[in-house]
Amino acid sequence: MPDRYDVVIIGAGPGGYVAAIRAAQLGFKTACVESRGSLGGTCLNIGCIPSKALLQSSEKFAEAGRDLAEHGVKVGEVALDLGSMMGRKDKVVTTLTRGVEFLFRKNKVDWLKGKGRIAAPGRVVVTGADGASQEIEATSIIIASGSESTPLPGIEIDEKRIVSSTGCLALDRVPERLVVIGGGYIGLELGSVWQRLGAKVTVVEVLDHIVPNMDRELGTALQRVLARSGMEFKLGTKVAGIGEAPERLTLELEGAERQSLTAEVVLVAIGRRPYTAGLGLEAVGVALDEHGRITVDDGFATNIPGIYAIGDVIRGPMLEHKAAEEGVALAERLAGQKTSVDYDAIPAVIYTWPEVASVGKTEEELKAAAVSYRVGKFPFTANPRARTNGYTEGFVKILAESGTDRVLGVHIIGPDAGTLIAEAVLAKEFGASAEDIARTCHAHPTLSEALKEAALAVDGRAIHI
Ligand SMILES: Cc1cc2nc3c(=O)[nH]c(=O)nc-3n(C[C@H](O)[C@H](O)[C@H](O)COP(=O)(O)OP(=O)(O)OC[C@H]3O[C@@H](n4cnc5c(N)ncnc54)[C@H](O)[C@@H]3O)c2cc1C
Repeated sequence: MPDRYDVVIIGAGPGGYVAAIRAAQLGFKTACVESRGSLGGTCLNIGCIPSKALLQSSEKFAEAGRDLAEHGVKVGEVALDLGSMMGRKDKVVTTLTRGVEFLFRKNKVDWLKGKGRIAAPGRVVVTGADGASQEIEATSIIIASGSESTPLPGIEIDEKRIVSSTGCLALDRVPERLVVIGGGYIGLELGSVWQRLGAKVTVVEVLDHIVPNMDRELGTALQRVLARSGMEFKLGTKVAGIGEAPERLTLELEGAERQSLTAEVVLVAIGRRPYTAGLGLEAVGVALDEHGRITVDDGFATNIPGIYAIGDVIRGPMLEHKAAEEGVALAERLAGQKTSVDYDAIPAVIYTWPEVASVGKTEEELKAAAVSYRVGKFPFTANPRARTNGYTEGFVKILAESGTDRVLGVHIIGPDAGTLIAEAVLAKEFGASAEDIARTCHAHPTLSEALKEAALAVDGRAIHI
């Protein structure tokens, strides 16, 4: 007799492992199928966590080399030990992925090691690395198989010289010149890591602006700061091909003019696409949309009864916290609750220096939808805490609906923007007005006072500017 579960989840990334833990908490007999040797998916193994570990270490390296003199701190010779930096990153990853294993044991979630395939509604076949298969039965199947890097046609990733984000997180030396194809957040974050460690970085982007999903004013400001730090940008430029010689790569570029660019390493970071290979979706008849994403309704149900999908493999932003929110919502819906995800209150953060963070609508979206809005802006140069810290780059921008004053979007570029955005997300979740933020007492001296001032500025009454 095959093992029988209430809920079987395929994929143990943030969508899958969070859904598994919540389902188990709700009393479901739960299993999670994962083929990778460790839990946590893209995020913990090759995404958010290793990239942030390297951003943190490389920032410390850059800071030690540049910034401390004005604080009266004299630093001796600063040298890079890349092996130790990578070792620390790997240790952070291992600690966190083992943490998920612990949480599975604590909540009695079975980790079924191997590749999962849906044989039929209610039936999953798990094939281990040794080729042995096991069939299990499930009342509900959740697909949380995530995403993979989108390849660039005609360019082969070898993860040594032409790398995806995965290879770029594990280079064994600092390249003299790194070319990043794609001006999205992954390319800019990883470009920042290697630039801080000494690489000359050029970003090639086919559009005429970077970070296309962000409010345009923030993208422009970010590009300006990164350019000032030495990062080069070739916008409106397409990579037509890469010539490989033993000592260097030559990129053929098409833009306003044809040109070529040499590099030691090329990072292809043009986006991510849903990963559904080997799941058996065609045989079972699970419908995909034109982008290869699994089609789901508001309750994450596919067109086949008993089969659900969450995370990067369905529509919406490909972000850890979005996948995790969907995991919780779906588990609770399976238990008869009415949980839903507010897609208008999902923050997005770029962990460059300065950080960029946003929630809700951009100015471009409001203009396109002909929504009337007011703007409140406040620069960090006028924020006392930013002054004491010595990081005054950037501003907070709040967009509020004209008649109602309801907060429609908040966009921050500046120090710790990724942490500051939490207040704005809460404001959106509670349907707050700019006035609500403006009337909220903020501790002094904190960076968060810039949010209060930007909210006051919506009504033209900021105090400190
Ligand atoms: C370099 C990089 C940096 C990132 N930084 C951030 C960030 O700072 N913040 C943020 O919010 N997001 C970030 N992301 C995105 C984030 O990692 C993803 O949005 C998130 O991991 C999606 O979660 P998921 O559960 O949908 O899928 P995934 O995390 O991709 O997990 C899917 C899992 O399913 C497994 N799997 C697939 N098919 C099968 C099968 N048939 N059988 C068994 N197992 C299977 C895979 O092995 C994988 O472990 C980053 C991504 C990258 C690449």
